[in-house]
Amino acid sequence: MARSDSASSVMQAALPKVRAILAGFRRDGFPVDVEGIAASQGMHVMTCRMPPNVLGALNLTSEGWVLLLAQQQTPPRRRWTVAHELGHHLLHSGRAHPIVRTGAAAYDWTLEVEANAFARELLMPVEACETALAGHPESEWPSVVSETFGVSRSAARWRLVEMKLAQPPEVLVPAL
Ligand SMILES: [Zn+2]
Repeated sequence: MARSDSASSVMQAALPKVRAILAGFRRDGFPVDVEGIAASQGMHVMTCRMPPNVLGALNLTSEGWVLLLAQQQTPPRRRWTVAHELGHHLLHSGRAHPIVRTGAAAYDWTLEVEANAFARELLMPVEACETALAGHPESEWPSVVSETFGVSRSAARWRLVEMKLAQPPEVLVPAL
């Protein structure tokens, strides 16, 4: 569990930053303007052709940080990629400066867990999720989160898991 402990401690440190960012953009409600947020944090977002297994990459160039986004992404997937890479930018740029982060086998999973936790908090803040879910039956929760926050059903489900409102799909319940 050291990995998630590490991720949660980084997230605790990063939460004020996430909330300060959101406070400036939440006036328009949800889904948040994630590409506008990325631009406000000094990232230039560009769409380009990329290898099939790569959704986004963060490059430090002479012009500053450039987020390259693959063309072939649904809008929810694109929003997630931007939020995830913004997490790397804000949480990890002081610790390491990889030129490109992709889906390569050499992933540092601790960094990935942290970037995903950041993306969930940015796109689906806990309090806003609780507000959105109020009054809906449990069976509708994944679709409510997905539609309210402009994320995929998969991302919505993981948010519910993180909030302890759903079971992780891989968990095997031992037979008694
Ligand atoms: Zn990543």
